[in-house]
Amino acid sequence: MAEKRDYYEVLGVDKNASADEIKKAYRKLAKKYHPDLNPDDKVGAEAKFKEASEAYEVLSDADKKARYDQFGHAGVDPNAAAGYGGGGFGGFGGFGGFEDFDLGDLFGGIFGGGSSRRNPNAPQRGRDVHMNIDLTFEEACFGAQKEVTVSHLESCSACHGSGAAPGSHPTRCTACGGTGQVKSVQRTPFGSMQSVRTCEVCRGKGTIISEPCKTCRGEGSLRQSKKINVNVPGGIDGGQTLNVRGEGDIGKNGGPSGDLLITVRVKPHKIFVRQGSDILCDYPITFVQATLGGEVSVPTIDGNVTYNIPEGTQPGTVFRLKNKGAVKLNGSSRGDQYVKVQVEIPKGLTENQKDLLRRFDDNVDPSKYKRKKTFGEKFKEFFE
Ligand SMILES: [Zn+2]
Ligand SMILES: [Zn+2]
Repeated sequence: MAEKRDYYEVLGVDKNASADEIKKAYRKLAKKYHPDLNPDDKVGAEAKFKEASEAYEVLSDADKKARYDQFGHAGVDPNAAAGYGGGGFGGFGGFGGFEDFDLGDLFGGIFGGGSSRRNPNAPQRGRDVHMNIDLTFEEACFGAQKEVTVSHLESCSACHGSGAAPGSHPTRCTACGGTGQVKSVQRTPFGSMQSVRTCEVCRGKGTIISEPCKTCRGEGSLRQSKKINVNVPGGIDGGQTLNVRGEGDIGKNGGPSGDLLITVRVKPHKIFVRQGSDILCDYPITFVQATLGGEVSVPTIDGNVTYNIPEGTQPGTVFRLKNKGAVKLNGSSRGDQYVKVQVEIPKGLTENQKDLLRRFDDNVDPSKYKRKKTFGEKFKEFFE
């Protein structure tokens, strides 16, 4: 919460201002920041209006003013003092029913009902529950049926969600007469202003549970584990989230349940890497295979496939195996596999083998090494 401004500063008066000056200053601000007179910035104006009203509420009351002068906001903070967690604006919330208000037309109904405050009896959607799921590379590519165990709030079966012990019933709150709200009348320069705040006894519910259900301790809901079968679609990737509707926490007052949100983690594969629906891998071949070409057996997620390496294949050449990638998320087709050729140079050859290579090299026309040849020509030009 942003730090509160000094009430005197808000009203633009100094600390020794008379009650009359405070009243005048407030009246001026109340007109200035009326949301209807500030169509370009209704929200900002409303905030300013409330700020001024709050300042006035304190500074116009001798007792509150004295506490404010001595302790600052802490001396009059309705949240700190009253100890109920309303909607941020605490005891100044309401703004309901401006009876006897000489600017009635101007203010009529704007703040009616204290729209910023949450009605505790309104249906509330349950919270979403988050969890992770670990998939193998293949499961992510092709999809899988997975069983997960979710821990979420369910309706208490002992009290059927009422929170009252079996055989007992919630009773009407006598403090508020079952309305959940307590009204009080404040004096303002315009007349009396009715303010409404949440009943602290029943926390706005209007009912009291005198004999709470032992199973759920009066909450009406319980955290429970449930096994759920999840259909993981093929083509899903790490970091993506599956939404299982209605398997989050149960809602309140008849509101809908939240969702179960499952974030996917994919274990890295020893050979393959995913890129969207495509799969990438490196494939080492010998320099002889690269030179002569030939059949090789390349691993794919479907098993090995035979591929014909062409004669004179260069290191870093990428070839494509069509439809050997992951299933596409919409299920229509599959991606491809891209195989990057790594040419491996042998080490630790015998003298005899080295000799064979030397004799081979003496026999090869330099023009067979195209890149080496062009590079040599460029190199020569450079020095000429
Ligand atoms: Zn219960
Ligand atoms: Zn009550």
